Amino acid sequence: MDASVIAPRYLTDHWHDAESAFDVTSPSSGSVLGQAADCGEAEAKAAVDVAWRAFEHWRDVNPFERAATLRRWHGLIMANQDELGRLMALEMGKPIREGRGEAAYSAGFVEWYADEAKRIYGTWFPSHLPGKRLLAIKQPVGPAYAITPWNFPAAMLTRKAAPALAAGCPMIVKPAKQTPFTALKLAELWLEAGGPPGTLQVLTTFKPGPVTQVMMDDPRIRKVSFTGSTDIGKLLYRQAAETVKRLSLELGGHAPYLVFDDADLDRAVSQVLACKFRNAGQTCVCTNRIYVQDGIYEAFAERFAAATAALVMGDPLDDATDIGPLVDGAGLAKVVEHVDEALAKGASVATGGRATGGLFYAPTVLTDVSSDMAIMHEETFGPVAPLMRFSSEEEVIAQANDTPYGLASYLYTRDLARAIRVSEALEAGLVGVNDGVPAAPYAPFGGVKESGIGREGGPWGIEEYLEIKYVSFALG
Ligand code: NAP
Repeated sequence: MDASVIAPRYLTDHWHDAESAFDVTSPSSGSVLGQAADCGEAEAKAAVDVAWRAFEHWRDVNPFERAATLRRWHGLIMANQDELGRLMALEMGKPIREGRGEAAYSAGFVEWYADEAKRIYGTWFPSHLPGKRLLAIKQPVGPAYAITPWNFPAAMLTRKAAPALAAGCPMIVKPAKQTPFTALKLAELWLEAGGPPGTLQVLTTFKPGPVTQVMMDDPRIRKVSFTGSTDIGKLLYRQAAETVKRLSLELGGHAPYLVFDDADLDRAVSQVLACKFRNAGQTCVCTNRIYVQDGIYEAFAERFAAATAALVMGDPLDDATDIGPLVDGAGLAKVVEHVDEALAKGASVATGGRATGGLFYAPTVLTDVSSDMAIMHEETFGPVAPLMRFSSEEEVIAQANDTPYGLASYLYTRDLARAIRVSEALEAGLVGVNDGVPAAPYAPFGGVKESGIGREGGPWGIEEYLEIKYVSFALG
């Protein structure tokens, strides 16, 4: 793949050749993969006009017909699973096995919401007055704007677009600058599935600010859905206030993993490993800090370090690869900074602990970690697992909750009462009990505290794109 294969274009109600463009580079090889359109204010304004026209049509399309279109889209995404996996490996360095998995996960949202389109129910409810009949119906909120991150270029797009489209809302997507091609491919498949022009638009850009400002200023954009960092989420929260838009924010996390003395050690090691090193540690629900109880600390650390050292780092296009590169220089610099700071404050390296060339960083386990280290408070977003000891349940719950974030948290125990007690006490939108990879298209996903607002996935996800209208009938 080279620049002559992927030419810059963007999608409104038809494909446009870009007037200006930017290079998209492989984090693995450093080579230029192609160019993406650098959309600005003019393209954004035109996209809102298109979205409004599409809304006037799409909201009235029979939900069973919307469902059928989504089902065809699902089929096409699955038929292109390998190609989407390959695009993600090229654009952002996700190991290809994981990329294929993400393609299937992204299709899972489309399949789920194809069915949900048919279940947008209203409710008749009683009045205390005679001769009245009361009804609550659900209607699409209107044109929506989505901003997606590079770390799940396919799944974050469908997790937002599928419920929007099922509900009757056209969507404009602005993908991350590192991953425009996966988004464009999904949009191409939507059109191939019979999605009406203008219902799903993709504006790629190197400067997200101006495009987003147009969306925020225009009252016809009724809903904004964002997945990304907490800092940008706060900015969008303020911007959306001006026209009082509905907002979903899926933001950063700092997931604790609590491993209790009674854990099945081998299973705990494999679950923590899967949770930590997925996507080279670059997911919002990857555990960032691992608390291990005194009685099993040494044994856990030894087995976990050995399992980590056995992970295969290499070319994301290779099926054998477990760990690919970091997404960019800034991502690598943050990992180096966190490890160096921890070592300077007394941490030890059990395995890894070094950059290995290009954007690669060896999967790392740190021991002798203390809570004053940056890695225990800030998202590292890399393949580094800091281990800390704890003695009591109360102490570790307090440490786990001592963060402004509240996205995912995990625990490992065989004690049922403890599993219930601790999962209730953890301040998080999702808790994995003996489960390091709990996310699913039919489950609610989202955070508390500064990790976000709203839920995506399952029946909860479509409510974000629906307004409730109350209709009162006086029979006279
Ligand atoms: P980011 O900088 O916030 O970028 C995310 C998206 O926001 C990208 O599309 C980016 O565009 C865009 N953006 C940046 N500045 C913007 C602005 N001023 N106005 C409008 N849009 C803007 O986040 P990141 O560091 O790339 O992604 C990783 C973060 O996402 C982590 O914090 C992670 O925890 C979080 N995340 C959360 C979830 C969840 O579901 N809660 C899932 C995945 C990731 P450009 O690419 O052009 O900069």
